[in-house]
Amino acid sequence: MQGLHQFSTPSDNWCQVHFANSEIKVARASKQYIYDDLGTEFLDCVSSSAHVGHCHPHVVAASQTQMQKLWTTQGFLNDTYSLYMKKLMDVLPESLSVVYLVNSGSEANDLALRLGRLYTKRDDVAVFESSYHGNISSLVDVSSKSFKRLPQGKKEFVHVIPLPKCQNIEDQTVENEQANQEKYCEDAQRVIENASKNGRPIGILLSEMVISAAGLVIPPLGYFKNLYQMIRNQGGICIADEVQTSLGRIGGDFWAFQLYGVVPDILTFGKSIGNGFPIAAVVTSREIANCLPEYMNTYGGNPLACAIGKAVLEVIVNEKLMYSAKMVGKSLLEGLRGLMSKHPSIGDVRGMGLCVGVEVVCGRPDMKPATILANRILYLLKEEKVIVATQGEERNVIALTPPLCFTLDNARRVVEAFDKAFTKANQSEESEPVRPNTSFLGLDNIPLNVMGGDEETDTSPAKRQRTYEEMD
Ligand code: PMP
Repeated sequence: MQGLHQFSTPSDNWCQVHFANSEIKVARASKQYIYDDLGTEFLDCVSSSAHVGHCHPHVVAASQTQMQKLWTTQGFLNDTYSLYMKKLMDVLPESLSVVYLVNSGSEANDLALRLGRLYTKRDDVAVFESSYHGNISSLVDVSSKSFKRLPQGKKEFVHVIPLPKCQNIEDQTVENEQANQEKYCEDAQRVIENASKNGRPIGILLSEMVISAAGLVIPPLGYFKNLYQMIRNQGGICIADEVQTSLGRIGGDFWAFQLYGVVPDILTFGKSIGNGFPIAAVVTSREIANCLPEYMNTYGGNPLACAIGKAVLEVIVNEKLMYSAKMVGKSLLEGLRGLMSKHPSIGDVRGMGLCVGVEVVCGRPDMKPATILANRILYLLKEEKVIVATQGEERNVIALTPPLCFTLDNARRVVEAFDKAFTKANQSEESEPVRPNTSFLGLDNIPLNVMGGDEETDTSPAKRQRTYEEMD
């Protein structure tokens, strides 16, 4: 069963875990490393939410200090909140001056949709193919990756824009970027016009700038300028979902929208801003915010969350993590791209900053997705103590989104591990079997943190049992 495992907890909840049959029981984590209950160290290339590093001492200290003073102030003012707001405002464009602090990326996107609908007085939403924006009903409705696997399918107020999928952004020549961009803008224009023709004008574009769930798809550089203009020209607004890409993940800049030279009307972000603590945000203009008569949130913006959020921003600046993400990401990208000539099953390596995807294919130039091979590589990398995830519609894109404290040495280690994994996989190469269909179970809906299927390459129950006995 892909990516799901029934925890034998008292409640027997279904939870998603990495590596369905040889899951890692994490005992502790530090920086970009996680340690299992046997003390084995793994290089964590998936925990994007541990943005500045697992258990960063500055973030831990800030949370402990705050916890001893004040945790909750619903309906009151507090200094930590004001200080955090000031820091956040410093890294946001002037037009985005109203902040709502919430508790998850899903909650942020839900509020953003509400604001957008109130402002435009339209229900209709345009999203990308294979997109994912959250796990609550309003977002399942607009996440093409999710709704297409449900019996009711796409709702009438949703309009799907084809993926603006091009090869690595750094390889784009002016000519092919222009050609790609024109083609993808025409695709989007067609969707927008059809919606209008059918009496359902689009009110909201909800999109990531790097479409992570679709397999880290990076649109051409000029694409969003045109798309935003098309949406706005017909009376709509643009929401940028930066739950995955915020606070320097793409290297160099705080936000992915900066790379594309646009400013969204509403920006949502999460994950990174709390370094794993549940905090997310919606930011918009005063004009749009004025449409929402009232907003209450018991935990959103509580002092503990604000202390952590503020500490995370401080670490990013003090440790120059955005610069580091750019430099280390470039080296990782180059190293992985260097493997393409040796391993034809690497179809593409793309990315920006520490957001890198390796597309696993049956061969070039056909680029047929190799789902089973990607899954095998995932387990072989685990044997090398490197943890990655698979993404994309066919789960054939290996995604690397490590904490930003990832080093050049880490990047070299990852490249070596990939080389070994692909070499081993080729030595025991089998033809690509048909991918098991798990969609009827609704198991494939959530794009992140789904790693590994039925393959069992790491059997350690006996070892683990010994450890339990020793602990007893
Ligand atoms: N948007 C995107 C792009 C995401 O990747 C996710 C989570 N993976 C969400 C929204 C939802 O965030 P959360 O899980 O914090 O609700």
